[in-house]
Amino acid sequence: MRKKIVAGNWKMNKTLDEAIALTSEVVNMIKDEVSGQVEVVLCVPSLYLITLKKYTDGAAKISLGAQNCHEKPSGAYTGEISAPMLKAIGIPYVIIGHSERRQYFGETNEQLAEKINITLENGLTPIFCCGESLDQRENHDFIGFVKNQITESLFHLDAGQLAQVVVAYEPIWAIGTGLTASAEQAQEMHAALRGHLAEKYGSDVAEEISILYGGSVGAANAAELFANPDVDGGLVGGASLKSRDFTDIVKAR
Ligand code: PEP
Repeated sequence: MRKKIVAGNWKMNKTLDEAIALTSEVVNMIKDEVSGQVEVVLCVPSLYLITLKKYTDGAAKISLGAQNCHEKPSGAYTGEISAPMLKAIGIPYVIIGHSERRQYFGETNEQLAEKINITLENGLTPIFCCGESLDQRENHDFIGFVKNQITESLFHLDAGQLAQVVVAYEPIWAIGTGLTASAEQAQEMHAALRGHLAEKYGSDVAEEISILYGGSVGAANAAELFANPDVDGGLVGGASLKSRDFTDIVKAR
C-alpha cells in the first residue's frame, strides 16, 4: 500500500509567531479530527524548522519538510542550506524542483538529479515536483514533457532509491492561480507518470510510489481530486496557510 500524503508548502510566508500559531493549530486539529492513515508534512521556511520541530515532535501523523536544499553537502554557497544540515536536525522531507525554483532560480533537470542524490544519501525523502506550463499543455506534448522531467532527474536511480522518492505533479498553470486541473486531467497525468515509472522499474515498484497532485488544491476540490486511483494526496500552497482549510484538505484524503 503506497503512502497517502498531504504536504503543505508555506513558501516564503509567516513570521515566527505566526508560524508557531499555525503549526500548533494544525497539530491540534489533525489530532482531534483526522483518524485515517495519512501523513501530513509541513514544508516551512527553513529558518523555522528547529523551532517548529518542538511542536510537531510526538504529534502523530505530522512531520516537517524543507522547501529546497543545495546539491552539494557543504561549501562556499552563501545563503544555501544542505541535506546533511537537514538530516542533522531530524527533518525527514524536502521539496525538490518546485516550479518556482525552476523558474526563478534556473534549476535544471540535471541539477535536480544531483539534489535528489544528496537527499537520498542523507536519508531524506525528496518530494520531487514536475509539471507543465500552459503553453506546453496547449501547444505541445505536455505529457511527454513531464515524463522527460522524471527521466532526466530520477531515472539514474536504482529501484531501491526510487522507492524513497515522492513525486508531486504540479501543473504550473494551476499553481497559485485558482485554476485547478480537473479530476480527469489529474488522473490522466498521474496514470501516465506511473506508467512511465513502470516501464523503467516495473509495475511493482511503480505501484509503491506516492504521486501527489498540486495546484490550487482547496477544501472544496480536494475530495474529488484525491478520489482518483493514481492520486495519492496533495501538495498544497495557499490553502496550507490557514489551519482550517489545510485540515479540511487532509480530512478529504
Ligand atoms: C505549490 O506551490 O506547491 C502549490 C500547489 O501552490 P497552490 O496550492 O497555492 O496552487
